[in-house]
Amino acid sequence: MMGSELGSEQKQMIYTVEHCDACDINNKRAFQKGDYVIKKSGKCPKCGAEMVIMSIYAEALKR
Ligand SMILES: [Zn+2]
Repeated sequence: MMGSELGSEQKQMIYTVEHCDACDINNKRAFQKGDYVIKKSGKCPKCGAEMVIMSIYAEALKR
């Protein structure tokens, strides 16, 4: 399990992955406050259907 490591300030970027069921596409974007999985997160740029957040994850940034 991941513990909280105080003192190691590794920068990380949080991403949100949205999914459009109609187009079967995923759209990765920067996480925004209030995002959570299965939340409706706006319209698909292609077909205008509502996209749903599939996953949220963090990626470590390398210097
Ligand atoms: Zn779509």
